[in-house]
Amino acid sequence: MIIFLEDMQEKNKLIEYLNSNDLEAREILDNDQVFIGVIGDLDKIDGDYIKSFKGVKEVKRIKEPFKKVSKIFQPKKTLIDINGEIIGGDKLTVIAGPCSVESEEQIVEIAKAVKKSGANFLRGGAFKPRTSPYSFQGLKYEGLELLKLAKKETGLDIVTEIMSTKDLEIFERDVDIIQVGARNMQNFDLLCELGKINKPILLKRGFSATIEEWLMSAEYIMANGNDKIILCERGIRTFETYTRNTLDLSSVLAIRELSHLPVIVDPSHATGKRDMVLPLAKAGVVVGADGIIVEVHNNPDKALCDGAQSITPENFSQLMEDINALEKIIKKNI
Ligand code: PEP
Ligand code: MN
Repeated sequence: MIIFLEDMQEKNKLIEYLNSNDLEAREILDNDQVFIGVIGDLDKIDGDYIKSFKGVKEVKRIKEPFKKVSKIFQPKKTLIDINGEIIGGDKLTVIAGPCSVESEEQIVEIAKAVKKSGANFLRGGAFKPRTSPYSFQGLKYEGLELLKLAKKETGLDIVTEIMSTKDLEIFERDVDIIQVGARNMQNFDLLCELGKINKPILLKRGFSATIEEWLMSAEYIMANGNDKIILCERGIRTFETYTRNTLDLSSVLAIRELSHLPVIVDPSHATGKRDMVLPLAKAGVVVGADGIIVEVHNNPDKALCDGAQSITPENFSQLMEDINALEKIIKKNI
């Protein structure tokens, strides 16, 4: 619910009333308009009674179920500062690295290569949610240690996926951006626990999730107190099988319209084909994503996971050149 005010006479009294009904009342200033955003169980209050407070101009129910992630409740874009790297600001964020951490040599070599080309963060899965229980499941805790080592060697902060709440403490301590994978987008227990920590969360879109369901998952994290969320469009399942998934670039525009949260694009999982990664990463930048996450491997054909969609460090270097050129054109046209 949004309460528009024409003067502040009874603003505090109104906020007190809302709070006493266990509702969160947030004062919002947008283009010189002051309004109060109300979050909680709205059945507890009567719109007509609210209208009786002096200074109340209009009371409007919001049809979208997401509140804290909504641009209506927070018009200002969320910027996430991770040791000086800002996500959601003027500069694109590039996250690169292998699907999974395989060895010290592999992760350090790839980390050095992507750092040299200009990546901002290193990705690498330690815990892998594989479709088959017989596929490589990741190096797990050893993988985390190797990521820390690669961070030490290159200075790149690390992004890796969490699969279970039992690992929360260790991720909170060792990981810079905690990834929630597509398969866990609606693991509400995990989302609630991630809401209670102070670490940026990369929330991937579930492959059968609508934009609204995806935003509701972000709402779970925010409702529990963590507002550092980066959304990631990674393709959805459609009737098409030529590509691994279908990259829904329109979701980037929808998120821009609906939410203040930054959104990045993952062309690797969206396509499953390395030849499509560069063009679609660039397309993501053109539609206005805040960044990209791409899988890079020093020997893609021998990768233990997702080799077919992994680009080489040389391809990645080309991608960075193209993106830097695009960024200049885009900025000029704003
Ligand atoms: C990954 O990033 O390696 C991954 C498993 O992604 P997703 O959850 O999008 O499938
Ligand atoms: Mn992968």
